[in-house]
Amino acid sequence: MRIREFQELIWKTYRHHDEKRGVTKTYEWLVSEVEELGRALSKDDMDNVKEELADVLAWLSSVANLLNIDLEEASIARYGAGCPKCGYIPCRCSYREKP
Ligand SMILES: [Zn+2]
Repeated sequence: MRIREFQELIWKTYRHHDEKRGVTKTYEWLVSEVEELGRALSKDDMDNVKEELADVLAWLSSVANLLNIDLEEASIARYGAGCPKCGYIPCRCSYREKP
C-alpha cells in the first residue's frame, strides 16, 4: 500500500468524523498522538511505539485530507530529490541535536 492509498483508506474510514471535527481539532488530535508516541519511546515499549507511529500517520493523513493535500505528492515534492535544505542524499547539513 502506498502513502496515497493509505491516505484514501483513512478518508473512507474517518471522513464523517474528520469533517465534523474540522482541521484545528483534528490537528490537536495529531499533536496528542505525537505526544503519546514520545511517551511510548521514553518507556522503550516497541509494541506501543509501533501503534503510536501508525496513529500519528493516520491523524496526519486526516489533517491532510481535510486540507485536500496529497501527502505522497507533497512528500516527494519536498524530499524526493534529497534534503530540502542542501539537496543531497545523504544530507550534508551540519548535525543539529534539536530543531
Ligand atoms: Zn541537508
